[in-house]
Amino acid sequence: MELLTIGAFSKACRLSPKALRLYDELELLRPTRVDPDTGYRYYAVEQLERARLVAWLRRLGMPLASIRQVCALPPAAAAREIRAYWARIERETAVRRDLAEFLVDHLTAEPRKDTAMLELRYCARSDTGRVRPANQDTAYAGTRLLAVADGCGPAGALASSAAVEALKFLENEELPAGSVLNLLEEAVRGATEAVRDVAGGSDTVGTTLTALLWTGSRLALVHIGDSRAYLLRDGGLFRITHDHTVVQSMIDEGRLTPEEATTHPHPALLLKALSGGTPAIPDLKLHDALPGDRYLLCSDGLSGVVPDARITHLLSTAPTPDTAVHTLITEANTAGGPDNVSCVVADVVETTA
Ligand code: MN
Repeated sequence: MELLTIGAFSKACRLSPKALRLYDELELLRPTRVDPDTGYRYYAVEQLERARLVAWLRRLGMPLASIRQVCALPPAAAAREIRAYWARIERETAVRRDLAEFLVDHLTAEPRKDTAMLELRYCARSDTGRVRPANQDTAYAGTRLLAVADGCGPAGALASSAAVEALKFLENEELPAGSVLNLLEEAVRGATEAVRDVAGGSDTVGTTLTALLWTGSRLALVHIGDSRAYLLRDGGLFRITHDHTVVQSMIDEGRLTPEEATTHPHPALLLKALSGGTPAIPDLKLHDALPGDRYLLCSDGLSGVVPDARITHLLSTAPTPDTAVHTLITEANTAGGPDNVSCVVADVVETTA
């Protein structure tokens, strides 16, 4: 076997001797031989390929622990890991992109030039479904706040109602210009603390929370978990939330196809929720409201059993939020009603007064 000194190996793989010594200590790339007297490191020519892979993975920004894992795998499995790593990065970047957009929107908000004043017409309803012994969902709608929460664990019902209850101060709060960030921060903190109190330190008790706060011309979205928000605009249904589930992250990472996901044994296993465990940060977004928009918030008791195409049809043909909510819940129960089902529907309308 041809052995290279660390200097020669360093030149050949374009990694500095300092980096090579670090990789040795981190067990990413051990020298083939270390001279027992001098401590000099020697590398085999065959190790160049691995050294280059380590260098490229470092350039990708992959953490050392993951690089070690990738390097120990055969090529096909290593490729899968790199793809999954990158999907996670893109997902995290997307969340940060939304936050950046939210801040840009917030800071560039101009008073509406058109004279139309907008308001919400809304309806909220929660149903136990046909299988579960109790309802752990909470649904709420008011003039400024729309919310759905899906509790889990022994105190799930308390957790979901505590989360929504903690947001209700938003109903009474006048919205001074430029205070949206304060209010959202307060809302997120309030809901997080309320759920933590209920859970009493147990991370098996928690809740999803998907809420829209009306600001007069926009809706601020707060979202964590797998309840969903949809917007029906010009006949098209747009989902404006991303499920924080293990299954969704596996789809994002290319480990599971959407078809395989439909038969996954634990489709509702959450990646993020409000719970007694590690605090998690909800996604935030701002949406411009247009007259004619119809928003739907729902728990997975609806989205898990009624396909999007059917939701679109029922939502776009119902004359009022009230009929929409009733029709959707009936549809979920007709499909077996395996879970608690909650729906909030709100129409953006021009103020008539
Ligand atoms: Mn549920």
